[in-house]
Amino acid sequence: MYGEALFCVLLVVFSADSIDVSSTPPVKTPLPRSSDFLLCRHCGFNIASASTITNIKSPAALAEVNQTLFGLDGVLVQRLENPIGIGFDVVTGKGGTCIGSAQTWQSEHTWFPGHAWKACTCSRCSQLIGWVFEPLQTANSLRSYASTNGFYAFILDHVNSEKCT
Ligand SMILES: [Zn+2]
Repeated sequence: MYGEALFCVLLVVFSADSIDVSSTPPVKTPLPRSSDFLLCRHCGFNIASASTITNIKSPAALAEVNQTLFGLDGVLVQRLENPIGIGFDVVTGKGGTCIGSAQTWQSEHTWFPGHAWKACTCSRCSQLIGWVFEPLQTANSLRSYASTNGFYAFILDHVNSEKCT
């Protein structure tokens, strides 16, 4: 743990040194999207690019807060609870490698009306990462990943930032 923290500090110092402030006048460029990645907290596998994070509100959220996460400001973190009372803090995103391998989609107890869900797991170590949500019309059993109209809810405690933020 200490070694990891030290590495972060070194990385920050190196990044600061690499910015040359004495050269050309500042050029106005659009803010880059985050280049960070969400990684499986268990094995470090790449789960999703931070640029795919999209705030999708659930009417079932018990609480919500905007946080700076994965190099992005204003990331919506929602507290959601399953029917047996287990709570999860989740962030939502439109892409990634999280795989919903269950044969069937569930349409009951959904946090997002009109969407069916499956648990989704890390495609390397199979640990639970969150859930994939898909509109009922396109939630067929062959689908393991979200379509362009589907999305993911990632459990914040089950993912890490690739960068040290
Ligand atoms: Zn993993």
